[in-house]
Amino acid sequence: MALQRFRGPSDLHLHSDRSDGTQPPAEVIRAVHQHGLRTVSLTDHDTTSGWAEAAQAATSLDVTFLPGMEMSAKHEWRSVHLLAYLVDPDDAALRAMTDRVRTSRLDRARTMADRIARDYDLTWDDILAETTDGATVGRPHIADALVRRGHVRDRTEAFSGILSPRGDYYVALFAPDPVTAVGLIAGAGGVPIVAHPAGRAGVLPRALLERMLDAGLAGFELGHRENLEPGVRMLRRLVAERDLIATGSSDYHGAGKPNMPGEHTTEDAMVQRIIARGTGSTPVYPRAG
Ligand code: AMP
Ligand code: ZN
Ligand code: FE
Ligand code: FE
Repeated sequence: MALQRFRGPSDLHLHSDRSDGTQPPAEVIRAVHQHGLRTVSLTDHDTTSGWAEAAQAATSLDVTFLPGMEMSAKHEWRSVHLLAYLVDPDDAALRAMTDRVRTSRLDRARTMADRIARDYDLTWDDILAETTDGATVGRPHIADALVRRGHVRDRTEAFSGILSPRGDYYVALFAPDPVTAVGLIAGAGGVPIVAHPAGRAGVLPRALLERMLDAGLAGFELGHRENLEPGVRMLRRLVAERDLIATGSSDYHGAGKPNMPGEHTTEDAMVQRIIARGTGSTPVYPRAG
């Protein structure tokens, strides 16, 4: 097969309304293309359902599309997000897990809605109205319903108040532990990368990172607005020592977050390594020309 080429700049972490972004997949691709990105990945939470629409939009814009997903995982109380590039979307074990997580997200949102409804005027239908059919439901949709009802100004206010894990309404979601999640992604031919690995909760314990690396972890998203020093510095050293993959991306959510396409990008050499390593699905390249 002829060498397939992609062009930078590359933004490999984007959300559509198949999870908690605010735009349909094709619109996301158009928006990031307008910001000058030429290689992109759609990484909706726990679903691959936006791939076909995104790939088609990318093709028509001469943008290279890398199939992706952001898989929910959990270490003790804290949530861990794993970017999963080039996975086989039909892998039975991976599908069983993401189906289970999406179902539990729905149950959990319902329970949170019931709790919130004791104190605020809010119905389950309000929340459903903020989602698209079959979308991965999350706290952002509850936040949008609270905004529409006038209980909070925006998602940020909802997250720091009513939806906070420290509040009375919060319910944890079911998610696999990070080692299991990494194993499932790698088992589905994918490339597992820890998303925003140095956020406010700090870097995961070294022993856990080692077990994740043993399970097939490929690298870390070092360029992300939520990452903090000195965690990033520590992870940069680890990446250099073990020759791991380092990415940078925006985590664009449309109007759902201030993150702008291309605010962090991934170097071409790293994109190349992801493409070389992933075997579960293939990038969609622009038509030759
Ligand atoms: P959940 O997975 O349902 O608990 O919700 C977490 C999701 O909400 C994450 O994927 C974030 O993208 C999003 N999120 C977290 N904090 C905020 C915030 N302050 N504003 C908007 N979205 C947020
Ligand atoms: Zn999100
Ligand atoms: Fe995330
Ligand atoms: Fe994300």
